[in-house]
Amino acid sequence: MSTQDYAPKRKITSFYPPQRHLMGPGPSEIHPRVFSAMGKPTIGYLDPVFVEMMEELKELLRYAFQTNNALTFPVSGPGSVGMEMCFVNMVSPGDKVIVCRNGVFGGRMIENVQRCGGVAVVVEDRWGTPVSLQKVEDAFKANPDTKVLAFVHAETSTGVASDAKSLAEIARKHGALTIMDAVTSLGGTPVLVDEWGIDAVYSASQKCLSCTPGLSPISFNERVVERVKVRSEKVHSWFMDMNLLLGYWGATNRTYHHTAPTNALYALHESLLMLREEGLENAWARHQRNHLALKAGLEKLGLNYLVEEAYRLPQMNAVSVAPGIDEKEVRRRLLLDYNLEIGAGLGDLAGKIWRFGLMGYSCKMENVMLSLCALETVFTDMGVKVKFGEAEAAAYHAYAAHPARLQPVRAVA
Ligand SMILES: *Cc1c(COP(=O)(O)O)cnc(C)c1O
Repeated sequence: MSTQDYAPKRKITSFYPPQRHLMGPGPSEIHPRVFSAMGKPTIGYLDPVFVEMMEELKELLRYAFQTNNALTFPVSGPGSVGMEMCFVNMVSPGDKVIVCRNGVFGGRMIENVQRCGGVAVVVEDRWGTPVSLQKVEDAFKANPDTKVLAFVHAETSTGVASDAKSLAEIARKHGALTIMDAVTSLGGTPVLVDEWGIDAVYSASQKCLSCTPGLSPISFNERVVERVKVRSEKVHSWFMDMNLLLGYWGATNRTYHHTAPTNALYALHESLLMLREEGLENAWARHQRNHLALKAGLEKLGLNYLVEEAYRLPQMNAVSVAPGIDEKEVRRRLLLDYNLEIGAGLGDLAGKIWRFGLMGYSCKMENVMLSLCALETVFTDMGVKVKFGEAEAAAYHAYAAHPARLQPVRAVA
């Protein structure tokens, strides 16, 4: 035997991914400033210079979440880890949790509750509709011993927004804590954690924050800290135990918990700094403006929105597939001919919808116009009748009717 026996049998060379236009459900495109931050020298996770950066990162996250919560930091791991971190700390065996399911991610929350030994009381709403406040109110009346209400603010699988502020009010009135999924909302539409009274919230780096995947910003208020303190048994996860993690992310006496993904954190610092420079209101307005233009164009192409206008997310546009067309082939051609990625439907919506993401740095005029032009040519090739230029004209007029608030994200020199 030799080490060569285990060597790959084919020739492997360096990996160079193509440059894509990312208009799917995440990851979104990444600004060159963020990539260059990521390429800076790796330093130790307890280096005083690194620790200073961590403090800035926490401040920038408090701005993004609109909160004063001391316990605000990025967890090492994708959004799913942020989700699990909330449940594993806040749900003890036997605890009742009302979980709202109106898409894929509410379903995952139910799984989390059950794996923590909790009892999930499920409030179901049709995919593409927001969480019904009345049903949640009724669920609390039927289950007054409920400890937590969990819901998804922006359901990426359908493109629907739910009324987070009212949901948090209902939970508080019934003495329960809230867990809110803000993975797709943060940076794209308002997420006002303190004003709305959200107790625990998590997000992810790769959606409207336009950072590389693999980090999950979270924020817990004092009520959550108190709840975790009175647990009679230890949190059932070593890695995600809030108290242990605070030994590293807390303000004083930092000690080793796990090796922080230093370079990924530089990237998040830069992407949050860019959000701070642009300003939240400007970022929200940019998402809305590009959404209105894309919508005008998609509707000209005969593609109808799944979600009623009042509940639509600007950053996630779910539209019905053009009738009689091979929807997979459309996506394949968009990728092949235009380097353009869009999302497919999930679950019951598989094959029925396309999802056009306009998240963070992907949310720009050139992507809107490119996707409309690309759809026109691909549709024409595939025998669907369209009039060239009509969709772009509709988008152009929508842009003209909604001037930009301010300059978009500053370009690199
Ligand atoms: C993407 C997404 C997640 C999961 O995030 P990952 O980073 O893929 O683990 C959770 N919730 C919502 C609403 C999402 O869109």
